[in-house]
Amino acid sequence: MSQVRVRFAPSPTGPLHIGGVRTALYNYLFAKKTGGTFILRIEDTDQARFVEGAEEYIMEALKWCGIKVEEGIEEGGSCGPYRQSDRKEIYRQYADLLVEKGDAYYAFDTTEELDYLRSESEKAGNTFIYNAGTRDKLNNSLSLDSAVWNKKLSDHEACVIRYKMPLSEDIHFNDIIRGNIVVNTGTLDDKVLFKSDGMPTYHLANIVDDHLMLISHVIRGEEWLPSLPLHIMLYRSFGWDAPLFAHLPLLLKPDGKGKLSKRDGDKMGFPVFPLFWPYGETAKGYREEGYYPEAFVNMLALLGWNPGTEQEIFTMEELAEAFSLDRVGKSGSRFDPEKAKWFNHQYLIKKPVEELAMEFREFLRSHGYHIDIIRLDILINLVKERVSFVKDIWDQTDFFFKAPDNYDQEVIKKRWKEETPATLLELRSLLSSTDDFTPAGTEAAVKAWIEEKGYNMGAVMNAFRLVIVGASRGPHMFDIISWIGKTETLSRIDKGLSAIGR
Ligand code: GLU
Repeated sequence: MSQVRVRFAPSPTGPLHIGGVRTALYNYLFAKKTGGTFILRIEDTDQARFVEGAEEYIMEALKWCGIKVEEGIEEGGSCGPYRQSDRKEIYRQYADLLVEKGDAYYAFDTTEELDYLRSESEKAGNTFIYNAGTRDKLNNSLSLDSAVWNKKLSDHEACVIRYKMPLSEDIHFNDIIRGNIVVNTGTLDDKVLFKSDGMPTYHLANIVDDHLMLISHVIRGEEWLPSLPLHIMLYRSFGWDAPLFAHLPLLLKPDGKGKLSKRDGDKMGFPVFPLFWPYGETAKGYREEGYYPEAFVNMLALLGWNPGTEQEIFTMEELAEAFSLDRVGKSGSRFDPEKAKWFNHQYLIKKPVEELAMEFREFLRSHGYHIDIIRLDILINLVKERVSFVKDIWDQTDFFFKAPDNYDQEVIKKRWKEETPATLLELRSLLSSTDDFTPAGTEAAVKAWIEEKGYNMGAVMNAFRLVIVGASRGPHMFDIISWIGKTETLSRIDKGLSAIGR
């Protein structure tokens, strides 16, 4: 294989959808695997859809994911510039070249005229198509006398350049994921290549840039598959070798019905963007929700590609090592928000406890608690198996930091017996005289006392948990009381007894 060069070519029309991040990731993995180059090209020729801040967002999102751009706006490179609006001057000559070759033509039809034709066709139950069947009756350099259209050109009349799609010809091409495809040109229209505003359309700019940037493989979303016949025709018209193509399957909604959209995230409460989008209609991001980039990338990589083994946890290096386009599926991949959390949990439990403690300490500080990092280590080891995010640690440990304000009524009904207050008072005096307040020390003392008295272990411990925690949740009781200490333990027993009743 000659030198692999791939590009991710987003349009800065808003925040980058996770489907777009996956496209970038697969390009990146493919480049890494093959020793190739990963290029970021910003496709901003559609001025009407340009959104301020989107370009920066794309670059920041890729950085957060650990997807390293080798050639791009910030990185530079020998095939730049890498923003299409900075390459404006390049495209016109290519459109003209196609006109000279007879594969494209000037068209002067106004938007109003075309809208009228569309609505008339619609009324008659048809769809208007600008193609070999209609172009002779329209306003263009194929239907008009050359003197007429040349005059229009020199008068600078608004004009576009359209591709002259053959009347009926089978185009054969291959997609690495979809296999061989045949499309007849009779089903295609004469797409605009160059607009009256002096800008190329996506189709022209995309092909010219892929050629000039020496792109070897175009890996992009399935939504671009319908454009592929035109792209193949353009390569042919220019006399250029086409790159190889791989169209990635869609990311589907969690129920599998249709494409995953921004709205689904809002409705079902999970982000569909890597980072928070701060402009206009804001949107949640994986980063701000507490996901680790490694977990996010790992999850995305497996949405559409499979390694052919049972392995699910991969570092970026391992992904690059294992990745291949022939293991990308043809059908859409259902997005599973629970699985996304599962991935984060897997990464969280593998983090060094000190790192989690530092993160959690920040969280606690913002809630007004200043706790020694060593003590947080202990706490995190007690609960990390139960959480997917550092912010969730609070929900599992809030009672470590403050005595309960209320007590679960259900538990009271079930566990608070007539003899409970007396038993808890006995337990209080036992703990008050226990010097070794380590988990093992208190456990040994309490168990010996229960045994000696012939009490029911469950009954005592449930009531004990109720006064310490306020509910029947949390880690091992002796770990809790050792962490909060003797004074706090005794005071919570007192508080519980007076609140629930002797
Ligand atoms: N600018 C197109 C997009 O936003 C790129 C499609 C392609 O990769 O060819 O998806």
